Amino acid sequence: MLISYAPVNRDPLRILFATPECGPWIKTGGLADVSAGLPAALRAVGLDVRVLLPAYRPVLAAVPGARELAAFAASAGLPAARLLAATLPSGVTALLVDCPVLYDREGGPYQDGAGADWADNWRRFGLFSSVAAQLALHPGPIGWPPDVLHCNDWQAALAPAFLRFAGAPHAASVAAIHNLAFQGLFAPETVAALGLPRACYAMDGLEFHGRMSFLKAGLYYADAIATVSPTYAREIQREPLGFGMQDLLAARRDSLRGILNGIDTSEWDPATDAAIPARYDLRRIERKTASKAALQQRLGLAAEPGTMLFGVVGRMTEQKGIDLIAAIGAQLVALPAQLAVLGAGEWRHEQSIASLGRAHPGRIAALIGFDEALAHLVEAGADAFLMPSRFEPCGLNQMYSQRYGTPPVVRATGGLADSVVDLTDATLENGTATGFLFREPTAQALFAAAQRAHVAWLDRPLWRRLQQHGMARDFSWDASAREYAALYAHLARTH
Ligand code: ADP
Repeated sequence: MLISYAPVNRDPLRILFATPECGPWIKTGGLADVSAGLPAALRAVGLDVRVLLPAYRPVLAAVPGARELAAFAASAGLPAARLLAATLPSGVTALLVDCPVLYDREGGPYQDGAGADWADNWRRFGLFSSVAAQLALHPGPIGWPPDVLHCNDWQAALAPAFLRFAGAPHAASVAAIHNLAFQGLFAPETVAALGLPRACYAMDGLEFHGRMSFLKAGLYYADAIATVSPTYAREIQREPLGFGMQDLLAARRDSLRGILNGIDTSEWDPATDAAIPARYDLRRIERKTASKAALQQRLGLAAEPGTMLFGVVGRMTEQKGIDLIAAIGAQLVALPAQLAVLGAGEWRHEQSIASLGRAHPGRIAALIGFDEALAHLVEAGADAFLMPSRFEPCGLNQMYSQRYGTPPVVRATGGLADSVVDLTDATLENGTATGFLFREPTAQALFAAAQRAHVAWLDRPLWRRLQQHGMARDFSWDASAREYAALYAHLARTH
């Protein structure tokens, strides 16, 4: 049943979705996927949504001939800008903040080619936030006054502060946290250069340990705060995952909502996946064995259909618990099992996984690099997926793996705790079990969970049920979109 969030006798709710990256035009991480998937799903449930994005060089290249909608004059230390209109591949309208001196350059959206933050990021995202706020004023410059301004991450998070001091009617605002570790910290003088009143540089404002923080501005001034899973929403109200913002987040807990991300269910679908040798679905799970054989061959693992194969895909960082995986490699081999790891990241983690592979030829394979097609083959070819993250705001791979009939073994944190149901007698019986959870971030706890998975895998009928439960789950954006729509409707009513 399609629920429409368009109020009777009124246009649909208008949502301006301000984001510093959006697939397929510009991507450094998961936020680009959210910015492609969520607005399209919001549109499908009946909202009028537009995506606001800086006109970076690759964005301009993707939409030649974007037409001009409005112009914004320079103010304080911010240069003039134009607003261009284009259409995303999903059909959603994109509004581009065009200011060539700030955005039309070689390099990434946040950093130069050498990996250093752009020195003028305060101005680049100050302008972006300022334009977002001006568009959110009522009646506003383009005849489309949004009901809600949804600001993603620190780059858009100054907009609620601009709105607070605008002195005019405006949209309600949501500050959405995808990564609390990036806080947009700049010198105190930046406040005046951005044209904000000095009074907001205070503990009850956007001051954060002697600097100004774009993110804190959003967390303090927005009408609501959203993050990407209910468990992460609780975890960030305490140390250590609050990254210094825990007291503010705890004080605002009634305005803080955790809504689990969706995934791109057309890109990640074993029934249509071009990157695997034999496509499969719930009724033909046995065809998954072709992917296992292909993965073993591709990575130089022994061609043993009867040996359990654990897969890992992810950034090689402390966050992802790659060191825990390295610590249990030899124990996995002794089960007996095989391990296939695909990832890139910090040198020390890459080295420890690579040397593990060398120590166990034919049993452990490490592929250091970024390879999307191989990521699909690991999801399909592994029997189970390991994801022992120390923290995980939402996480995608555990959802992909359930969809691919590859039960995940995950640490009970953030979105992992919210999207995987631990196998117990009760959850097997009621049809909800989809994987294995463990609590402590230790090699011992990870191995105990992997061992439980191994025992379960040996019981083929049980394992098949576990696979089926995961494959039957709906991880599409639709459910998230309905939750966001309910949040927006509430804000529009109460603002
Ligand atoms: P995070 O955004 O913290 O890195 P997620 O699980 O949310 O973690 O998303 C990571 C995404 O990047 C997934 O789509 C995953 O498959 C992909 N990915 C990570 N590392 C690699 C790699 N080395 N090769 C291919 N894809 C990768």
